[in-house]
Amino acid sequence: MKKNKCIIPRNWLLGLLLAPVFPVQQVWSLELPIRVSVNFILNASSNRPATGDLNTDAEVNALVQRANEILTENRTEYKFQLLGINEVVGESEFYNLPSGGNNGANRDAIRNAAIADPTTWHWRTDAINMYINGCNLGYSAISDFPPNNNIVFFNQYAYEPLMLHEVGHSVNLLHTHQGGGDGCSDTLPDDQDWTRDQISQNSYGLNYSQLNAAQQALVDNTWENLMSYHDVDNTHIITPQQGDRMSTQTYTDRNWLLTDTPVYIKDGAPSAGANGSWNNPYPTIQAAINAGQVNNRTLVLMASSSHDNPTSVLDANTDLITRRGSSTIDGKMRDYEVGYDLENSTNAALAAAVLLSQNLAREGDAEGSLAAIRKAADLAKGRDRLALLTEIGDRMKAKDEFDEAERFYTLAATESDQPALTARFSKKAQQMKVLKEKKAEKMLLQSQKDPTADEGK
Ligand SMILES: [Zn+2]
Repeated sequence: MKKNKCIIPRNWLLGLLLAPVFPVQQVWSLELPIRVSVNFILNASSNRPATGDLNTDAEVNALVQRANEILTENRTEYKFQLLGINEVVGESEFYNLPSGGNNGANRDAIRNAAIADPTTWHWRTDAINMYINGCNLGYSAISDFPPNNNIVFFNQYAYEPLMLHEVGHSVNLLHTHQGGGDGCSDTLPDDQDWTRDQISQNSYGLNYSQLNAAQQALVDNTWENLMSYHDVDNTHIITPQQGDRMSTQTYTDRNWLLTDTPVYIKDGAPSAGANGSWNNPYPTIQAAINAGQVNNRTLVLMASSSHDNPTSVLDANTDLITRRGSSTIDGKMRDYEVGYDLENSTNAALAAAVLLSQNLAREGDAEGSLAAIRKAADLAKGRDRLALLTEIGDRMKAKDEFDEAERFYTLAATESDQPALTARFSKKAQQMKVLKEKKAEKMLLQSQKDPTADEGK
């Protein structure tokens, strides 16, 4: 029998199948949404922190965006759906709690308070609830394994892949350096303090440069892994087996965690017992249609590169996407220190400038807030000044003013006596140069496309 095959492009999304001919291939931006809700815990003056990595909506959005880039790059079936950014008022006793160091007791205290007063805390039963406070020392964030995977608690130190790293734990991913292994044979044994060569030496007795390509790929799987502690800013790999663990858990949690219900289809899966779950996928799209399992759901085509065309037509309410094939604590100590809680500084003028900046930000006056924080930077010294310089850099970056962002990151790097801070913000300054060039190219293209752009000059 001649089989009519539909070749599914890797990392592409198939569109709705409206026409009576299969397939209609479209690039469609529909993935399975993982639902997240973000909440800032405010201080006693009802302000967010003045400085840090996670004190603005733009910084929250950057973490969501990075999560989605990594989810797409790894050809998972997911994206984050940010349901909102809210503020928790009148709970300032939680404002300075560190996220780490006490086996999750502070995270659990927040969850208990939130469940007891869901209105104040914007607690949702249909999303992972993320809480951000003003603590800027010690650990970065802590999430929780299933079945308690409904919360992530962040302090102010956040590298861009961190939000997805935490949700990785929520959907049952372990660290690559987990004692006893991470349950995935496509990562190598790891220690959080190892270099890339040490990972190579441990598994193969050779340095990275001496390995063959397949071995190097396995080392990269670990060194650049989302769930590793190595070069955290650049972690981005989710291995196939990690993807399987995610799918297993999200299917279990689908009714509250996902906006759409997935129906898994795996070419060659046994027909007996098939129900579209991750563990018992349908062997064909047609089998899912026959079972009446497709309306208002998302078909996830798994693993194999080709699937039989269905003889029936899918209706417009069905999405089609492709994928490749108890409690814990989390947290990585930041490797440098900056000041925080500056509105309570013993330097009264500094405290006043920071407080003014916070109040103006709350009133929606971003420019005024920035001016006040620049004044605060002039008044501050040492760790406090470093926090303010980096905050100004962050805000300039968010405004696409990459020249100024570069200038302030460079200042922080230069003034710091902490090597890790110098390294981090030198790197950020370099990134600003790249962004500046991209922006200039884009503007040049724009002006070439639009001959009237120079009118009036
Ligand atoms: Zn972790």
